[in-house]
Amino acid sequence: MDKKYILLGKTVAELEKFMLDNAQTKYRAKQVYNRLYLKSVGDIDSMTDLPLATREMLKEKAQICSAVIKDKQISKDGTIKYLFENQDGTYSEAVLMRFDNRANLTACISTQVGCPMGCSFCATAKLGFIRNLSYEEIVQQIYLIQADTGLKVTNIVFMGQGEPLLNFDNLIKSIKIFREHFQVGARRITVSTCGLIPEINKLAELDFQSTLAISLHAPNQKKREEIMPVSKKYDFENLIKCLKKYADKTGRRVTVEYVLMKDINDSVNDAKELAIAIAKLKSNVNLIIYNENEKSHYKKPLKESIQKFKYILEASGKKVTIRLERGADIDAACGQLSAKFNK
Ligand code: SF4
Repeated sequence: MDKKYILLGKTVAELEKFMLDNAQTKYRAKQVYNRLYLKSVGDIDSMTDLPLATREMLKEKAQICSAVIKDKQISKDGTIKYLFENQDGTYSEAVLMRFDNRANLTACISTQVGCPMGCSFCATAKLGFIRNLSYEEIVQQIYLIQADTGLKVTNIVFMGQGEPLLNFDNLIKSIKIFREHFQVGARRITVSTCGLIPEINKLAELDFQSTLAISLHAPNQKKREEIMPVSKKYDFENLIKCLKKYADKTGRRVTVEYVLMKDINDSVNDAKELAIAIAKLKSNVNLIIYNENEKSHYKKPLKESIQKFKYILEASGKKVTIRLERGADIDAACGQLSAKFNK
């Protein structure tokens, strides 16, 4: 059987062509467009402003998404973890977070099935790399969340499964769709990387107005190499140089992500060394408290170490935030996405 035409991710012009090819009008294409991006309806039957015959044609020839929601878990703090089943039987995950003090709805989405980067503290790394997601599969995560909740996602972070910059073209295309069609502002989109220097340089050449977050997680090469194999290829010093160049060229502050793990990278010396290393990098720091779980030997830092670490960085002039722990009870917290169903 021929594959059906996937509607989501298409521009108005592409939808017009599809509709004209199927004896429909441009006006109908615009209606479909609005239903996809402005409303995120659950299925073609819910596009009730289209005539029945048009909906029948769409159901026969097209489908909104290629993925479906296979499962969802709701944390006691309201965080929702979604498991999506892709057409080829692989699984992806995304997390929807609402912070009490803000009206914002933040979705953390994936760009790959699994991940090849092998960070030692990350559950996704244990899956290995399965494949890149297509741009449609990336975009569908937001659509399916919006259709499920009836709410508009206001902020998007590429911090789910996978290294986004390894799926560069699909990443850029999906950001374009989020900006132009879903109307999510560029400044409300954050891309997190473990530090691929050539791709960061490539990003610096684009009109990329979103935030770049760097998963640094260590204050020097020795420590970073122990927990993040990427550092063997792109070392700490060159990475910081590259980020400085990026921040200077784009005029945008980089977010330094640092997951604090007890006795690994949370000492006073680590904080001092980090403060020196990033002193000249235009950046804010986001401290993440490691979420202990039985599958990992890493431990959560003591409250006292967290406060000292934060204080030292602040004293060096950095704006520091501690990321609120979300969804730890449903394995939705940072580094816990493992899409257990993937073989
Ligand atoms: S932390 Fe990110 S880059 Fe590292 S293995 Fe996990 S998903 Fe990949």
